[in-house]
Amino acid sequence: MERTKLSDEHIALWKAPTIAEQLPVRFDTGFLFTEMTGHCAECKQGLPNECMHGNVLRPTRHVAEVVAVGYCDDCKLLTPFRYRMYDDKRFTTLRNDGWYEGRMRKSRADRVKDRFKAALRWLFTF
Ligand SMILES: [Zn+2]
Repeated sequence: MERTKLSDEHIALWKAPTIAEQLPVRFDTGFLFTEMTGHCAECKQGLPNECMHGNVLRPTRHVAEVVAVGYCDDCKLLTPFRYRMYDDKRFTTLRNDGWYEGRMRKSRADRVKDRFKAALRWLFTF
C-alpha cells in the first residue's frame, strides 16, 4: 500500500476514543457486535481494538459503521479503516477500490447448534 501523509481526518480519528471503548454494539436482532480486527497495511499483523481509535456510528439501526485508524507499533504506521457491520452479521469493508462484503464466522457453539438442528430435522423426516 502506498504511504501517504497523515490527513487532518486521520489525526482527528487518532484523538478519538479507542474502538474497544465503543464496543459492543447491540442490534435489535439480538446480534452483539463485540470486536473488529484491523490489519496493518504494511506487515498485515492483526491490530487489536485497543490500538484502533475512531468513531462507531449508527447510520441506521441495522448498521454500525466503524471509521478508525489503527496503529502498528512495529511499523510505526497508522492504517485507516472503514467497516460496516450489519445486524444480519454481514459486514462490508472499504478498500482502495471499493466495498468488500464478508460474513462473520459462526461461533463454535452456533455451529454445533446448527448440526444438532440438522440432525433433528433428519430424524423427523421419517
Ligand atoms: Zn505493521
